[in-house]
Amino acid sequence: MKLVFLGPPGAGKGTQAARVETAYSIPQLSTGDMLRAAVAAGTEIGKQAEDIMARGDLVPDEVVVGIISERIEADDCANGFILDGFPRNVSQARALDEVLVKKDVTLDAVIELAVDPDILIARILKRANESPDGARDDDTEEALQHRLRVYEEQTAPVADFYAEKGILRTLDGMQEMDEVTQQIRSALDTI
Ligand code: AMP
Repeated sequence: MKLVFLGPPGAGKGTQAARVETAYSIPQLSTGDMLRAAVAAGTEIGKQAEDIMARGDLVPDEVVVGIISERIEADDCANGFILDGFPRNVSQARALDEVLVKKDVTLDAVIELAVDPDILIARILKRANESPDGARDDDTEEALQHRLRVYEEQTAPVADFYAEKGILRTLDGMQEMDEVTQQIRSALDTI
């Protein structure tokens, strides 16, 4: 199963994608995690991405498209994958289409977790306070406001892009975490 998870920061998409990874034995491919690993390892990509990420802006499309295009070639993606945090704008979505066409692969579904923006800030700041590794650089209130704006302006249109293709499933991300998991399972079971 080839899936995309879409949702603003704090919508719980990473948590839910991890649960789908376990339940369906397909890897969760988080561009955010991959970029943070590159920053920590001090690679060229990491150096290029570090300041951009700390501000809450998007790193250049060619960087993330390159990362994902290479990653989905790996053996563990043979039965599918969950793209978490990618695509983040319509041009990435178009680039992904091209990559998938070349590999003769189609997306099965795009799961969008819809959440009221007003509750997101509180949720993320809570996550930052509770994290055993300390807060992420981009979990400050200022960076967060910016990430939400970037989401509204650049990522929200990605949902329309997939709605037109008929593969968008919008779910209520405001429910309890287990309830959201259940909704996702029901949606995926119809595929
Ligand atoms: P996330 O962990 O998904 O919230 O991503 C953290 C940060 O990594 C984002 O605010 C961006 O700076 C960067 N990032 C992650 N995924 C992408 C993407 N698909 N396109 C551009 N930047 C990304």
